[in-house]
Amino acid sequence: MAGEVPGEGCLFCRVVAAPEKDADNLVLARRGPVIAMLNRYPYINGHMMVAPARHAGCFGDLAPEELPAFQSLLADCERALREGMRCGGMNGGWNIGRCAGAGVEGHLHLHVLPRWAGDVNFMTVTAGTRVISESLEQTRDRLLPYFRDGRE
Ligand SMILES: [Zn+2]
Repeated sequence: MAGEVPGEGCLFCRVVAAPEKDADNLVLARRGPVIAMLNRYPYINGHMMVAPARHAGCFGDLAPEELPAFQSLLADCERALREGMRCGGMNGGWNIGRCAGAGVEGHLHLHVLPRWAGDVNFMTVTAGTRVISESLEQTRDRLLPYFRDGRE
């Protein structure tokens, strides 16, 4: 919520402050000033979010050293989805402000969603590829290796 105290009521601040709960919170990577996690309420299997560890509301609020860290983690998310989930494409976007559809206001987060041919048709069999639904925990286990490259 606008004007909230960082860490109170903010999903991302709660997750950042509790590394011991990374499995429960579906965290994929912590890289200094940025964090990546699966969305507990995904639009599609593999729906990730990248956010600054600090309670910052928009890209313009990030410090110069936070921006490249954000991009680097975003690139890893892209690779994890492409190689780990064999997606054919991706969508990414961020919502700043309630009028833009932000579910968590006040803490910047970029959504990254894998896409497959035909997934708009409930991911049925398309072009010989069957997308198998799996639990969020299974998806996290499958994607974690792509974030373990010694940069954590
Ligand atoms: Zn926050």
